[in-house]
Amino acid sequence: MTGRLTVLAGPTAVGKGTVAAHIREQHPEVWLSVSATTRPARPGEVDGVHYHFVSGDRFAEMVAAGEMLEWAVVHGRASYGTPRRPVEEALAEGRLPLLEIDLQGARQVRASMPDARFVFLAPPSWDDLVTRLVGRGTESEAERAVRLETAKVELAASKEFDEVIVNDEVRRAAQELVSLMRSEKKTASEP
Ligand code: 5GP
Repeated sequence: MTGRLTVLAGPTAVGKGTVAAHIREQHPEVWLSVSATTRPARPGEVDGVHYHFVSGDRFAEMVAAGEMLEWAVVHGRASYGTPRRPVEEALAEGRLPLLEIDLQGARQVRASMPDARFVFLAPPSWDDLVTRLVGRGTESEAERAVRLETAKVELAASKEFDEVIVNDEVRRAAQELVSLMRSEKKTASEP
């Protein structure tokens, strides 16, 4: 494999999806993995572009067949996973592959691909994170409470990562991430 995989993770509502969407539109040199998920599509989401929307049975089949590089149940609600083959192909082609996944998934990738680059997207502050989650308005109050509990635990995990990028502004954070991916910079965790 000639490329190097980058994994972007971070707490709920930090804006990982927005940064990924910006990269999808503005940085075609980055190959963004399309996850499979059992959750229904939201308005504006396109099957095969934002996610592969699959049934629970199909997801279980993919897992059983070893087709997932990693997978997790996120927020206790739906399953999400990264199809393995497209990632391997992107690496073999020397592309700049990026996974935008949750912390559980990032840990699985670290176990199987320790040479990948692990980037944590952090909010400028805890208050900022709460404001984003409330402002997004896509979750019920009960779901929001679950996500905030998860976010607290996830924020503490930033120290497991090679790099931390603060999402103070989407365009800037995306630019920092892409610059990092393009650089050959070695991090302390590497030999
Ligand atoms: P959403 O449903 O809002 O699009 O995403 C919910 C969460 O699922 C986000 O934290 C996102 O990073 C995570 N996620 C998306 N795709 C994957 C994946 O393939 N694997 C894992 N482990 N998490 C994912």
